[in-house]
Amino acid sequence: MSITLFNTLTRTKEKFVPLKDKSVGMYACGPTVYQYMHIGNLRSFLFEDILKRTLLFNGFKVKHIMNITDVGHLTSDADAGEDKMLKGARRENKTVWHIADFYTKAFQDDVKKMNLLPPAKLCKATDHIKEQIEMIKTLERKGYTYFKGGNVYFDTSKINDYGKLSQLDLDADSQARVERDPHKKNPHDFVLWFTKSKFQEQEMKWPSPWGSSGYPGWHIECSAMATKYLGKQFDIHCGGIDHIPVHHTNEIAQSEAANSKKPWVKYWLHNEFLVLSGEKMAKSGENFITLSTLIEKGIDPLDYRYFCLGTHYRKPLMFSYEALEGAKAGRKRIDIFIKKIQIFGKVNNKRKQDSSIKKLIEKSKNEFTKKINDDLNTSEALATIHEFIGEINKKISPEGIDKKNAKEILKFMKKINSVLGIIDFKEERTPKEVELLARMRLMARNNKDWKKADELREKIKEMGYVVGDTKEGYDITKA
Ligand code: AMP
Ligand code: ZN
Repeated sequence: MSITLFNTLTRTKEKFVPLKDKSVGMYACGPTVYQYMHIGNLRSFLFEDILKRTLLFNGFKVKHIMNITDVGHLTSDADAGEDKMLKGARRENKTVWHIADFYTKAFQDDVKKMNLLPPAKLCKATDHIKEQIEMIKTLERKGYTYFKGGNVYFDTSKINDYGKLSQLDLDADSQARVERDPHKKNPHDFVLWFTKSKFQEQEMKWPSPWGSSGYPGWHIECSAMATKYLGKQFDIHCGGIDHIPVHHTNEIAQSEAANSKKPWVKYWLHNEFLVLSGEKMAKSGENFITLSTLIEKGIDPLDYRYFCLGTHYRKPLMFSYEALEGAKAGRKRIDIFIKKIQIFGKVNNKRKQDSSIKKLIEKSKNEFTKKINDDLNTSEALATIHEFIGEINKKISPEGIDKKNAKEILKFMKKINSVLGIIDFKEERTPKEVELLARMRLMARNNKDWKKADELREKIKEMGYVVGDTKEGYDITKA
């Protein structure tokens, strides 16, 4: 089944055909490590994770590269504002190197907790200064740069399709920009290399052909590292929608100019924002929620993952704790179903194999693939799984379900979870004592001894478990 993806470059859904056979080169703009990631950033990395998992599900090989922005870039995308790393260092009274290292590790920790597949290579901007200088030298040699006021600038007037990604109306947009750098020939020109720091305490500095100490502009790091690890042309580049007008627009301009290849990237994919109280969640804003905040409130990172999957990545997602509760309940339904089937997979009972289950799995797999391959429609893919669970539940009799059928179901659920990543298949052993009490409670209920049944329920609760009544008898979950 083919995959279609919405390409920001053409503003249409396109059939996905990689440049080379079944191998996909994918670059994702990574975190700026001067602060913890907020859950909006994690929504972005999750969208990339689902994209990668969907490609793998469809039999593609994926080389996923992500950068770590650890060079002190400015708070505004357009070469203005404060140095982000310095801001973090001042806040915590540490060196910028210390800050970068600490928040890189915190990011990797979030990646694990959110069950995001780690990139093939997580590359730091500070480890690739040589490659960035080389690319700027190439641009200089080809006549795309000018040196003014201590900075090397990219001259956007030298290319005729600047702004094609953002479909910029260059004239109107130029008028709209308030803050102007007097050294820029055109308002859209951008800095490739700074030799004169605006900040006295700038710690991250390197020698270059343009002066004894300086540092790169932001956009060049992604062009240099993507080219190094994925080549002069590759398949997919992604990030949040805030990257469209400046960062990705400039990455395209300098990479196509340096590499002499058009298009640099075949498919550009962007996620919409996580929104809180009507505003984009931002590191600089008040509405900053981290994964640790959620965990402290008793929310499993996988519940947040499930919550994000309930909305298409190209739609804004409104955050609220109430909505998260809904996600938690949805994931729990799947979890209970899995635990139940895992038990049926182990016991011999009187049930005969039901051939309609295999057919149902086939149908649901097709449906799931159709949804997820349609520009990663996670919410409808999830709905398919809930429908499947409902159908199977109808087929479970008081004796349970045939062992082989249970195994088929588990195999299917593992397959779809290779994309969704929301199910924990670890089999938790319920303590024998709890199991015994639950059985005694069932007997009490069968004898209509409600008092005894309630007492036993309380005892089970004291041991940290909740017993629920089902058609087949009972299920036990952790409190
Ligand atoms: P940063 O660490 O700021 O460079 O951001 C890392 C990624 O998160 C980028 O791809 C951003 O576009 C994305 N991002 C930032 N804020 C949000 C948000 N509120 N919702 C979704 N994605 C975001
Ligand atoms: Zn980037």
